[in-house]
Amino acid sequence: MTEQALIGLIGGMSWESSAQYYRLINEAVRERLGGVASARTLMWSFDFAEIERLQHAGRWPELSRRLADAARALEAGGADFLVLCTNTMHREADAIEAAVHIPLLHIADPTGAAITAAGLSTVGLLGTAFTMEHDFYRGRLETKHGLTVLTPDADDRAAVHRIIYEELVAGRVLDASREVYKAAIARLVERGAQAIILGCTEIMLLIGQADSPVPVFDTTTLHAMAAVDRALVDLKAADFT
Ligand code: GLU
Repeated sequence: MTEQALIGLIGGMSWESSAQYYRLINEAVRERLGGVASARTLMWSFDFAEIERLQHAGRWPELSRRLADAARALEAGGADFLVLCTNTMHREADAIEAAVHIPLLHIADPTGAAITAAGLSTVGLLGTAFTMEHDFYRGRLETKHGLTVLTPDADDRAAVHRIIYEELVAGRVLDASREVYKAAIARLVERGAQAIILGCTEIMLLIGQADSPVPVFDTTTLHAMAAVDRALVDLKAADFT
């Protein structure tokens, strides 16, 4: 019998991507441990309608409080570490870290590590306007991982943001929107992007490697795999006690 660390997922932002995390994490644990093994997880899932309203009203302190409450609830439930299943809400990562004693596995870190391991340094970032325009995300990629981060021009940023909030979080995956993303990717590549970060956890529903002339780095998959690595590494540590 094998024990695993308990993964605390803060999700619902949106549930469309949280469902992908749940699937990816469980598939990876089954693959690594064999048989009918599955992941040990707890998930706090928000009503995204409330989250989205607060985001667009700029009510970040309220969002920060809600995330801290969720983090405390997962810690109290026994979670060994936290996974926040959205790039955007990492804007409030510091508040989560301050609220609990368990670690938060920051979504930008497995992504930055994978890009540098591939020998790439200039990346195009697609995500919500908050992720593309505020400093919390690109700043971490630049400072901690040494990357040069390009974002689309204003028109492309608006289109990429609109498609996330009007379509992808509602489970609508449209061919016309894929073409919009492909055009935005092509313009980033023209400006020197050697890779594209799918920096919103729903973009993988729309865009895959076949849609880009340069490597794509999907934050959902990279983050989910980092969570599995951590859960199973913690297991080894626990075996020594
Ligand atoms: N899931 C998205 C992200 O990774 C956007 C939704 C949200 O604002 O949390 O940024």
